Amino acid sequence: MFAIGKMKTFIDLRSDTITKPSDEMLQAMVSAPLGDDCSGEDPTVNRLEALAASRLGKEAGLLVPSGTMGNLVSVLAHTQRGDEVIMESECHMYYYEVGNISAVAGVIPRFVKGHHGVLIPDDVKKAIRGGNIHYAPPKLVAVENTHNRGGGTVTSSKVSCDICDIAKDRGLFTHLDGARIFNAATALGVDVRELTQPFDSVMFCLSKGLSAPVGSIVVGQRDFVERARKYRKMLGGGMRQAGVIAAAGIIALETMVERLEEDHINARYLGEGLASIPGIQVALETVQTNMVYFDVEGLGLDSVSFIQELEKRLVKASLRPPTGVRMVTHRHISRENISYVLGVVEEIAKFRSMPQ
Ligand SMILES: *Cc1c(COP(=O)(O)O)cnc(C)c1O
Repeated sequence: MFAIGKMKTFIDLRSDTITKPSDEMLQAMVSAPLGDDCSGEDPTVNRLEALAASRLGKEAGLLVPSGTMGNLVSVLAHTQRGDEVIMESECHMYYYEVGNISAVAGVIPRFVKGHHGVLIPDDVKKAIRGGNIHYAPPKLVAVENTHNRGGGTVTSSKVSCDICDIAKDRGLFTHLDGARIFNAATALGVDVRELTQPFDSVMFCLSKGLSAPVGSIVVGQRDFVERARKYRKMLGGGMRQAGVIAAAGIIALETMVERLEEDHINARYLGEGLASIPGIQVALETVQTNMVYFDVEGLGLDSVSFIQELEKRLVKASLRPPTGVRMVTHRHISRENISYVLGVVEEIAKFRSMPQ
């Protein structure tokens, strides 16, 4: 059904983080005006921070080396040790950030289960406990959009607003882990500000689908950003002539947002193609942006052996053990690449269904 042409190099669907800087980014990095950013003197960093803040509808921005540090400085700037942070039970801040909110910020998470990662406002309301001497004081609500482990799922602006209204009503701050917030805005066909406006702070990544080599941004009100800047310095994230990084970030914001739609179309094509292959189970309702999660149990394979079969045929994907696989589309993946991948998976599936 799906034709396998000749392939010379790996088709790498492990993550959109593997995207390389464009030629335009590399040129901008070479010619960027620079200064010491720890003294606020790097004009290119200052330009990126202002550009990001205005794109997301906030007063100020802060360049950080990674999304992990961006989320951590945000938590540090909003909370004190012993506070409680309400978050989705499989969110990145809990699952993939090395326990930093507890180890470094000293806060305790309280989990709310979302629907494929998307929180229901009423569940958040119920999770905010009232003043009681026995409780850790709730201080912050964190939302992830798009939700990584949920399958790249999107939280609407209505739901975002409702959650933030509930939090504010109870005197809690709100943080958006918007590593892929431009994917969410693209999927919904809205200005990204509709999704960021209700939150006190937002983190997004330049280094994922937007293809910059390094960097994430935190935005919010000026006083919040200045507190976060102090924590960035405390964590060792003060980067001197960081304009070499920021220059690529500016090009990322200027040239890479529009093309995300293509990644979503490719992911949809991939998801639907995989769903048509016997033995592959795809949660198609979660294929909303640039990710496809599927299960290979029906082939009698686990994630590790399935991925070995893929790699023999020059395709890379990520493991979600025991039998789950994740594929992510990005700038280096074409529609033809997806056709090839579907051919490969079909071949693996046929081989598995032959009498052994
Ligand atoms: C990637 C990611 C992060 C962290 O970004 P790093 O730059 O890898 O530290 C945070 N949140 C989500 C949802 C992510 O996907």
